[in-house]
Amino acid sequence: MKIETKCIQSGYTPQNGESRVLPITQSTTFKYESTEQMGRLFDLEENGYFYTRLANPTNDAVAAKIADLEGGVAGMLTSSGQAACFYSIFNICQAGEHFICSSTVYGGTFNLFGVTMKKLGIDVTFVDPDASEEELAAAFKENTKAMFGETIANPALVVLDIEKWAKVAHAHHVPLIIDNTFATPINCRPIEWGADIVVHSTTKYMDGHATVVGGAIIDSGNFDWEAAGKYPCLTTPDESYHGVVYTKQFGNTAYIMKATAQVMRDLGSIPSPHNSFLLNLGLETLFLRMERHCQNAQAVAEFLSGHDKIEWVKYCGLPGDKYYELAQKYLPKGSCGVISFGVKGGRAAAVRFMDSLKLAAIVTHVADARTSVLHPASHTHRQMNDEELAAAGVTPDLIRFSVGIENVQDIIEDIDQALQNA
Ligand SMILES: *Cc1c(COP(=O)(O)O)cnc(C)c1O
Repeated sequence: MKIETKCIQSGYTPQNGESRVLPITQSTTFKYESTEQMGRLFDLEENGYFYTRLANPTNDAVAAKIADLEGGVAGMLTSSGQAACFYSIFNICQAGEHFICSSTVYGGTFNLFGVTMKKLGIDVTFVDPDASEEELAAAFKENTKAMFGETIANPALVVLDIEKWAKVAHAHHVPLIIDNTFATPINCRPIEWGADIVVHSTTKYMDGHATVVGGAIIDSGNFDWEAAGKYPCLTTPDESYHGVVYTKQFGNTAYIMKATAQVMRDLGSIPSPHNSFLLNLGLETLFLRMERHCQNAQAVAEFLSGHDKIEWVKYCGLPGDKYYELAQKYLPKGSCGVISFGVKGGRAAAVRFMDSLKLAAIVTHVADARTSVLHPASHTHRQMNDEELAAAGVTPDLIRFSVGIENVQDIIEDIDQALQNA
């Protein structure tokens, strides 16, 4: 199936006489006839549902759809993108260990990795996403267990050279984890470029309607945990789960099975089945929406770059943008609907501009059907000092503008009138 078809058809195939639309199994539990069968389910010896924290038919169908869209072998949903990012590392990295992360990742991820996970004893080194192979290699330590980056950084709009990062990760026998939230599998499938694990905040384009916070983790099935020789958590018995050896019992889905049977079992950030149903509605139109987001954003970026009240514009679809060439390689169909720019007059002009917008709403959100706008230095990134802001690629005048799927002329007229007031 082509990707448009997968958006509609993957994950759920009704049998004769069953509900045409993915049903919401809004139940915490599942009933069995015998004690013995329930026991086999707990031992992971038999497939079946027993408790929604571990598996639920609605959640699983949507996870399977996203896994198919990304070209992975297995997936799981989480109740937020933050949980997905945390689990993706915590599943293979414990106290006393280390991982490497791009310094331009989303502010929430930056805090999670740099502050909260450090409190758990998991160390991170943030590196320049544009670093050379040698510089990336230099960040490795004895105990490094993963590399992490974003296809398109939120909100810095840095395009990651995924192939280069994958090459360095694999040379050191660790997996590359890619947060593909902004590109979505419609515009980039990181697994095709060597990524091993893909994570999402489904809250953004995948849901697309700003209704449901959620996340997903997808396993490519390509990383050889046994050959790497440094993941006893996957290759030796898990005493907390009847001594199961994940790689032995589950082969190339070991990573997701462990994330479910151990990390989700203990930490429990599962989405409500009702939320997964809503996410699935969003996924059905993802292809159409991404196409329009990208068309509109390209037109808005071109309008801004020719405007005399604009200091600078960042959008990797603009020839001359620092990431134009990388975007042509990794995002040939378009990148996303998010643009960043600076209004002449700095921070004060940015605030006047934002307060003058009528159609575009000031919201702590990005990447949904409605055009929205945010000032990272005073909103999402306000915990960071100037040095951290600079490393994250966020200047004090940066406006993050999320172009929706309204009529593009309406969006441009709104920006134009607001610029007159800035
Ligand atoms: C929003 C976002 C997250 C966090 O996701 P939530 O769903 O808000 O928890 C992680 N990564 C990226 C790139 C994001 O844009």
